[in-house]
Amino acid sequence: MTTLADVLDRLTAEGELYEKQAAGAVRCTACAHRCLVRPGRRGICQVRFNDQGALRVPWGYVAGLQADPIEKKPFFHVLPGATALTFGMLGCDFHCEYCQNWLTSQVLRDPESDVSVQFVRRISPEQVVEFGSRMGAEIVASSYNEPLITSEWAVAIFKQAMAAGMKCVYVSNGNATPEVLDYLRPYLHGMKIDLKSMQDKNYRRLGGVLQNVLDTIRRAKEMGLWVEVVTLVVPGFNDSNQELWEIGRFLAGSSPDIPWHVTAYHPDYRMTDPAPTPSRTLLRAAEIGREAGLRYVYAGNLPGRVEEYETTFCHQCGLALVRRRAYVVSEYHLTAGGACPQCGTPMPGIWSADPDSVQIDGPGRPKPARF
Ligand code: SF4
Repeated sequence: MTTLADVLDRLTAEGELYEKQAAGAVRCTACAHRCLVRPGRRGICQVRFNDQGALRVPWGYVAGLQADPIEKKPFFHVLPGATALTFGMLGCDFHCEYCQNWLTSQVLRDPESDVSVQFVRRISPEQVVEFGSRMGAEIVASSYNEPLITSEWAVAIFKQAMAAGMKCVYVSNGNATPEVLDYLRPYLHGMKIDLKSMQDKNYRRLGGVLQNVLDTIRRAKEMGLWVEVVTLVVPGFNDSNQELWEIGRFLAGSSPDIPWHVTAYHPDYRMTDPAPTPSRTLLRAAEIGREAGLRYVYAGNLPGRVEEYETTFCHQCGLALVRRRAYVVSEYHLTAGGACPQCGTPMPGIWSADPDSVQIDGPGRPKPARF
């Protein structure tokens, strides 16, 4: 019988993010777990494995491919209204109990995820970018599963995407190494990074280490990548005032220009106890972010119920520059140079050079790529 592991192991290539060690072992550097993988064994993510002293890594397929509004990633300061051709593979280096993509992220770790083999489609980097061009994408995003663990494949696609004039972004848990960030830097414009908690014990529960994520946020910012941070606010897990203040202070200390998205949780996968996040909790989190010194704070997953926290305001004069509801941009007022038209203050982010072409009142929902 062919197993999911058989299928995925065939869809691999030799990786670039690893170092050879003694006795045929390899040290993977794609994520901060830095697995030492002995011959015939797998890393923590299960999808990278040692085959006779060489690290094999996922290659040549997607398990998800669709055109999403960039606001869905979420990026609010990267080409508002644009379409992001988004691809994902299978596997993850974390095991979050509330994962909304667990069917694809937990393959080879949770037998219930094995059905995701049906999503696998063989494809070349050129074909991915062709889909993007056909769907009018200005951006290519690696998302749905953790992109760091499939960085070699992402770079192969991003090279083609950049040649076609597209921007390239990661939607990541931030469990990166300096090596993988250096590897990605020539091809990556932006990173959405989750900051799930400021308590290391919470991160251990999800399969990570807090300090690694904090280091990634600082490092990515210092490297000149555009960074937006998301905190899924889960009642009883990370919604205390103290924790939200710690996140706000950390981000503002890194840069007050980092947009912070506080988003609403709903029960999923193995976390079914806490009730969905109420809008008053998101509003409290957003107000804390502003008081902590962040200039751009957004509240997500509860469209129309979070007052002004879906809108981008000029931090200097207060003019509303981009109005949104859910994933739809309803107003766009930045200049071609990405500045406030009223006071001239440059807005941090990646903005359209042709404001008249920005899509207003777009569909606001994903369009699957048809194979
Ligand atoms: S990507 Fe991370 S979890 Fe997977 S093998 Fe490499 S270091 Fe280990």
